[in-house]
Amino acid sequence: MRVESVNPFIMHIPVTGNQIADSMHTITHWGVVGARIRSSNGIEGFGFTGTHAQLQSDRLIARLISDLYAPLLVGRSLEEHQSVWQDLFHSPPIQWIGRAGLTQLALSAVDVALWDLKAKQSGVPLWAFLGGSQVSRVRAYNTDVGWLSLNDSQLVDMCTRACQAEGFTGIKIKVGQENPEDDVRRVEAVRKAIGAKATIAIDANGKFDLPGALRLSRRLEPYDVLWFEEPMWYDDVEAHVQLARLTRIPIALGEQIYTVESLCQFMLRGAVQFVQPDVTRLGGVTPFLRAIASASAQSLQVAPHAGEMSQVHVHLAFHSPSCSVLEYIPWIRRCFLDPATVRDGYFVKPEAPGAGTTPTEESLESYGKSID
Ligand code: MG
Repeated sequence: MRVESVNPFIMHIPVTGNQIADSMHTITHWGVVGARIRSSNGIEGFGFTGTHAQLQSDRLIARLISDLYAPLLVGRSLEEHQSVWQDLFHSPPIQWIGRAGLTQLALSAVDVALWDLKAKQSGVPLWAFLGGSQVSRVRAYNTDVGWLSLNDSQLVDMCTRACQAEGFTGIKIKVGQENPEDDVRRVEAVRKAIGAKATIAIDANGKFDLPGALRLSRRLEPYDVLWFEEPMWYDDVEAHVQLARLTRIPIALGEQIYTVESLCQFMLRGAVQFVQPDVTRLGGVTPFLRAIASASAQSLQVAPHAGEMSQVHVHLAFHSPSCSVLEYIPWIRRCFLDPATVRDGYFVKPEAPGAGTTPTEESLESYGKSID
């Protein structure tokens, strides 16, 4: 089976409540920028990366898929997938301008599409294609109830509803406000409302410096915080090493890391306890499998970041016992033939062939954007 054609697509899908914010970003739509790869026997594979739905940069990613990666892919055998990935990553002109940023987002879409295609060819879901399911349950935590754009009472109401009415056993609260006491007040109010059983993670999206992150973590230690996500600038290994030594709250990061090698720097230095690779940024499923193997070898837990809203990661979480918990954000699930679904706080194991990345024709029509 060979690659016959590679075509990009773009969708911009509205977020819950028209707009959400964390400490660094305010967005109205989630961008799904993808590759549609057709094989010589007529099967189509889909893969995509996740963006903040800025059309100009989304079009750059789409052009990378059609102009840089497609010529390297067409005619290649899917049996050579691993060496194809190496060629796409190391190809001299791409290596010179790539290894991070837009090229890596485009490569992620392409690689996921190849895995989707291969799993469909075998007629099984991706977790089965990878060798089967090693866990019976994948716990979900809800991020869509903890945005900084929610006022205190909305935050408490939504977190309470998620934990008490919808069965979630974990939620995540965004932090990183000018006055850290505002963050403390919100975490304290939610902990009081949901009780001691459900887990609370916090996420600063890289906002703080070391003294700021340390100050907030010390103030939040009494509230049994599961992890402190992206407390400081994404690439600063040394600051995270120091913070990890000074706080009792475990550190989580990885969503802004582009290579397994970079992620390993944090792991090997003891700067992260919950590793958060993302197939939409790390270069696809191929390097993701290396990342979780590295984390597993160091007895670190993996909690994937959901740039694809867990459409793909749910397969990887059922496949790997390292993925202890998985992020749930419901914005784009309705746009896919096999939507990632949570029931009573746990992800439902997907059964349709492929990687969960096939968009419905109606969604492509309703939310699709022209690529030029
Ligand atoms: Mg995050």
